[in-house]
Amino acid sequence: MRKKIVAGNWKMNLDFAGAEELAAAVAERLEGEKLQCEVVICPPALYLEMATDFAEESVLKVGAQNVSNRDNGAFTGEISAAMLASLDVDYCIVGHSERRKYFHEDNAFLAGKVDKLLDHGLTPIYCCGELLEEREKENHFNIVEQQISEGLFHLNDSEFYNLVIAYEPVWAIGTGRTASPEQAQEIHAFIRGLIIKKYGRELADETTLLYGGSCNAKNARELFSQPDVDGGLIGGASLKATEFVQVVNSF
Ligand code: PEP
Repeated sequence: MRKKIVAGNWKMNLDFAGAEELAAAVAERLEGEKLQCEVVICPPALYLEMATDFAEESVLKVGAQNVSNRDNGAFTGEISAAMLASLDVDYCIVGHSERRKYFHEDNAFLAGKVDKLLDHGLTPIYCCGELLEEREKENHFNIVEQQISEGLFHLNDSEFYNLVIAYEPVWAIGTGRTASPEQAQEIHAFIRGLIIKKYGRELADETTLLYGGSCNAKNARELFSQPDVDGGLIGGASLKATEFVQVVNSF
């Protein structure tokens, strides 16, 4: 379902006390605000229960950063979709470029994770985006099309309705180099076009497309004002409550 969303990806940062402080500060700053978007925090897995406790008493939603593609059993270190669901986690990031790069997760493997999340009622935030050299060779449309078709286009209409896509050019993640609003709009419109071709306009118009990559309090408003940008997946700027809330208030 299409809605405006700002999601903070905390990655592997903060100790427990720091994470609790940040969740509390974000919840407190959002209290009583007339929000134009849904606000999601994605802490490390160890802190999810703490975060869902805050979510119960605030407007916050909670996302995990990763999930197993298996149901249960002898998979040491893994966390299943059923476990996330049992903590009332709402969202889960899938296919972040850091997982693609450091953990060699490819589109077919990620498709399995998307399936497990949907089976358990969680909303996948499926990430796609090209490397710098791919953009320089003007191959970014092909790369993004492949990531989306191989990772998501096995889903039926009602499954597809329940996911979010985040376009995150890898050259913009953590670099301070943001895609321009025009670049973001161009590729978001392209992604919506792919969905129109596969599922039709109605479903494409219902799909939330987030932008991620050095999005912060200074550039969020312009990015979010693009017609096909429905919000952001925020890394570095989500670790400071004041700045994150400024991003949230950028619609
Ligand atoms: C991210 O890692 O999802 C991200 C968008 O990071 P940053 O905002 O720090 O570029």
